[in-house]
Amino acid sequence: MKKFLIIANWKLNGNYKFINKNINLIKKKIDNLLNYCNLSIAPPFVYLSYINNFLKNTSISLTAQNVDIHIKGSFTGEISIKMLKDIGVKYVIIGHSERRLYHNENNNSISKKFILIKNNGLIPILCIGETEKQKKQNETEKICIQQIDNILENSNINILNKTIIAYEPIWAIGSGKSANMNEIQKVILYIKKYIASLNPQIAENIYFVYGGSVNYSNLDIFLKKKIINGFLVGKASLTTENFISLVKKAEKIISLLNNRS
Ligand code: PEP
Repeated sequence: MKKFLIIANWKLNGNYKFINKNINLIKKKIDNLLNYCNLSIAPPFVYLSYINNFLKNTSISLTAQNVDIHIKGSFTGEISIKMLKDIGVKYVIIGHSERRLYHNENNNSISKKFILIKNNGLIPILCIGETEKQKKQNETEKICIQQIDNILENSNINILNKTIIAYEPIWAIGSGKSANMNEIQKVILYIKKYIASLNPQIAENIYFVYGGSVNYSNLDIFLKKKIINGFLVGKASLTTENFISLVKKAEKIISLLNNRS
């Protein structure tokens, strides 16, 4: 059984005060409760090591929000995959729409990062998704497949094995307007079918995560159909008590769904 993965993407937020309160509370209130969910925290780079010290002897893992395409050398300001590995990171988010938009990242550089992460034994979380305009033009599936195909063109289907694809419609991120479950199901099943046409087992081994305005009040809708294997949570991960309630609620619903089937 795949455990449901909840990744808290803090983006450019947090400080020592927030971390000390937040991580201690998360450890105290939810670490022992998690049977059906796994939790991972994605803080800004500078806090990764500090948070990792808190997470020793817990089931909670560490996610980085980005990585450079180079391993080492004269690349001022960058962080390499070897460094992330060295400090205990498990997952790396790449292709987030905010990086595509504000840092000119494109499918080509993202595919290089994906391959680098996978080949160094960490797990890439590849964010894909369409803009509002592309959605209106019925291009969602085409855009998502293009974002995946670029990786396949630079490698082969095996590179996708046991990785994470996060479907994050760009218009749903931080907008308070999440996609509806029928839309999510349509896109994820389309992608899964496409990957299954290349290798059915690899399609099964991929984690399909949804991100885009997930919160305590709407999360039930995404869980019922058992299509998605996790959430990427931005804004709702920044208020500790609410985030703890969100994780507890997800754990409870998933345990009920599993015990029913
Ligand atoms: C995100 O940025 O990955 C995200 C899902 O943000 P939010 O939950 O705020 O929409």
